[in-house]
Amino acid sequence: MSDQTATKPRVRFAPSPTGFLHVGSARTFIFNWLYARHNGGTMVFRLDDTDVERNTDASVQSIFEGLRWLGLNWDEEYKQSERLDLHRAAAQAIFEKGLAYRDFTPAHAAEGEASSAQGAWLFNPGMRELSREASDRRAAAGEPFALRYRVPRGAGRLVQFNDAVYGEMSKPADEVEDFALLRSDGNPTYHLSSCVDDADLRITQIIRGQDHLTNTFKHVLIFEGLGATPPQFAHLPLLVAPDGAKLSKRKHGPVVSVTTYRDAGFVPEAFINFLCLLGWSPKNDLEFMQIAQLTELFTLEGVNRSNAVVNFSEETPFDPKAVHLNGEHLRVLSVEDLTQRLLPFFVNAGLIATDPSSSPSSFENGGIDDAAIKKLLAVTPLIRERIRLMAEAPAAADFFFLSELPPYDPAELIPQISKKEQGDAALALRVLKHAAEVLDETDFNHDALDHALREAAADLGLKAGPMFQPIRVAVCGRKNAPPLFETMVVLGKETCLTRIRQAEEKLTTL
Ligand code: GLU
Repeated sequence: MSDQTATKPRVRFAPSPTGFLHVGSARTFIFNWLYARHNGGTMVFRLDDTDVERNTDASVQSIFEGLRWLGLNWDEEYKQSERLDLHRAAAQAIFEKGLAYRDFTPAHAAEGEASSAQGAWLFNPGMRELSREASDRRAAAGEPFALRYRVPRGAGRLVQFNDAVYGEMSKPADEVEDFALLRSDGNPTYHLSSCVDDADLRITQIIRGQDHLTNTFKHVLIFEGLGATPPQFAHLPLLVAPDGAKLSKRKHGPVVSVTTYRDAGFVPEAFINFLCLLGWSPKNDLEFMQIAQLTELFTLEGVNRSNAVVNFSEETPFDPKAVHLNGEHLRVLSVEDLTQRLLPFFVNAGLIATDPSSSPSSFENGGIDDAAIKKLLAVTPLIRERIRLMAEAPAAADFFFLSELPPYDPAELIPQISKKEQGDAALALRVLKHAAEVLDETDFNHDALDHALREAAADLGLKAGPMFQPIRVAVCGRKNAPPLFETMVVLGKETCLTRIRQAEEKLTTL
């Protein structure tokens, strides 16, 4: 039993709360989560909040908000800022072993001058070689210092690790500078805190962005200093824009932020599916995958090294593959589930009213009347094939909810009789008048409407198409609309007849 527990992976997602949740971070989270769940391991969430100057509460909120939306949970949660004593104690232990030294040079001077003049590693040879006695004396006198790792020097010395994605990584130790473990204010650096926590939390795999690949040489040295075996590293390829530049909010705008996808009406299932295809390929080249299948198939061997391109442009603000996958995911949700998710979009569009004192995103207790919910439940199956993002739903279905149709061009009411023959306003009027008479006598259910309107077409010597077009435009205010009979059933007899009469009036203005 204990053997088994020992081999179960422990992975972590460790965001720094210095910005909103980036799509690349979301992918890192997801890959860690899939790895943990695939292997029956533990998912750790760790907030890397040691950089007090750059941390913001808004960023913490954005990270939690984004992750909550993804709906993937974690098993353990930590905050680095609550573990600073541990980090300082570890720095002290490394120092006591002689693997770190105090650098009394003010940080800015040390970093600039020496590195450019003598090679990056020789931060400050005077400090590196300072005797322990002199160092203790100056520290005791209250002189501020940074604590630097004493990177082993000498020709032929290599720092090495085996990355699960990038393979054997190796660098001459002389190319690694004597990096700081503690700043001169006594606070640990990211490198120190991260490694101390990874060791203390018994992390077995570090799965993170490729931008940390070069940091890893330093991390391997810190693990050595701690006397701990480094975890396995797996770096994920960068997400880049079509022009090859690393995705960044400054350059690429909202497409980089997770909440943009949520607000545009992606379902998290599709967003997760899409992100998984950025830098990972399942063995069988599947594209549409649900979480369960992703979990079953996910392995680090499937992660590629080449940058993953997110395709977007001014005309198509989201990657077409993401949009397509979203459409597919919408189609497999139950009507009730999809309706629940669509509801806030209708509320926000002002098509469904809500009690202002309650939350618009909550369906069960959101103060929305039963009739509106019942109507949306009936509308959902009619529009689900016609939308790919949930934010498109209100525009595709507004005519179900509006008491007055938005203005439309009455010429749209005039049907095409055949490929070559165009009808005229008089024909449209005849169709609508006859339809109104017939519909007045018809039960509003699918089959009765189908039967009655086909018969009405025959009465006028018309095919179904030219009969249905004026009716469709009259009741929906547009040609492009869901199936006619189902639509009319949802709208009900009274609304349909009123709109048909209004359309007749519009035709007289032509
Ligand atoms: N806090 C670091 C970041 O957000 C974590 C990197 C890591 O996974 O070690 O980039």
